[in-house]
Amino acid sequence: MKRKVLLLKFGELFLKGRNRHEFINLLKKNISKKLQEFDFRLSETQGRLIVSDFDEANESAMISKLQQVFGLIAIASATEFETSLENIEKMVLELDFDDVKSFKVETKRADKNFPMTSMELDKHLGAVVLEKFSHLRVDLYHPEKLVVVELRTNGNTYIYDRLIDCAGGLPLGSAGKGLLLLSGGIDSPVAAYLIAKRGLEIEAVHFHSYPYTSLQAKEKVLQLAKEISAYVGKIRLHIVSFTEIQEEIHRNCDAEYMITIMRRIMMRIAQRLAVANDCGAIVTGESLGQVASQTMQSLNVTNSVVSLPVFRPVLAFDKEEIMAVARKIGTYETSILPYEDCCTVFLPKNPVIKPTIKRAEFLEEKLDIELLVGRALNNEEIVEIDEF
Ligand code: ATP
Ligand code: MG
Repeated sequence: MKRKVLLLKFGELFLKGRNRHEFINLLKKNISKKLQEFDFRLSETQGRLIVSDFDEANESAMISKLQQVFGLIAIASATEFETSLENIEKMVLELDFDDVKSFKVETKRADKNFPMTSMELDKHLGAVVLEKFSHLRVDLYHPEKLVVVELRTNGNTYIYDRLIDCAGGLPLGSAGKGLLLLSGGIDSPVAAYLIAKRGLEIEAVHFHSYPYTSLQAKEKVLQLAKEISAYVGKIRLHIVSFTEIQEEIHRNCDAEYMITIMRRIMMRIAQRLAVANDCGAIVTGESLGQVASQTMQSLNVTNSVVSLPVFRPVLAFDKEEIMAVARKIGTYETSILPYEDCCTVFLPKNPVIKPTIKRAEFLEEKLDIELLVGRALNNEEIVEIDEF
């Protein structure tokens, strides 16, 4: 008896001791949720997860979904059958060699009870294939077709010639939760993707300056949140009005420090939301030197108002590199739609490039920050987004 299965590979390096159990359980939970619209069975054999009992018509849709699950390295579309030399020989010969001239067999023998070693099997199966298909030759270095034969400890063998790349990383939830500052730009959705890939779940905050910024600007951010949610899981998005705060800053502070002080207040609000919602870090899409507010000195001045660690996954990325990730994950087209960010309202001509904490603190004395922050948070709107 043989059947079609998806053999899922995950990163084994991280799997030490108790971690291993947690990692695999999270991965299974995330896979089950991702594939909830399909009928299937998920099982585990040492070192692999196996998706079986699904309708083959859904295979490619299921693979596309699984490519959005962090923690998976690759998927093999494989045939599963009971381990025996006779079965293995038969199944190897059922593969399609029509369009290739060279091949290589690679055996992975996790089942050490099998009487032949991996090397012996490689050679033997190579010879079996050559005998039947006279147009082929073995190429150990650049084979046109790589045939993989995995003998697992569950008594089954898996054979495949197609391996599909997945996102890699660590399972969502394995690193806790972070609070993302999500704008309508290109960078912050990419930051979310990259940090979630290391296992961090995402809660998010977006600041708008309605009516200076449009309702479409807000819609755009909701759309971006949906798009990243396919990778980063459920997102609770806090939508906070920044209008009054901006007006107050505009009225009271030097123009060149406006953005610095805005960003310090955004960070204070982010810190409050993070603490209240069980987030252990703040995440932004800042990139060193990209604009005046992202110089080392500016980052230091905004950072100094929070105590949580601030993760900046794209800090060292060029814009081109950030855009490449945005295209890969599908947020780019949404991000480049025209919109006004609240940072672009009342934009000063010459924002300070090397602000100091002392000067920022001096200018902030004219603001009742506690009151402003409290009022903004009291009027927040919360939207739950789940496209995972
Ligand atoms: P992005 O492309 O993500 O908008 P950017 O290059 O426009 O980034 P800034 O506008 O200076 O850079 O913003 C830097 C970071 O600050 C953003 O990546 C985001 O994390 C945060 N941020 C900016 N504006 C907002 C906003 N309106 N709401 C929430 N976070 C914001
Ligand atoms: Mg922006």
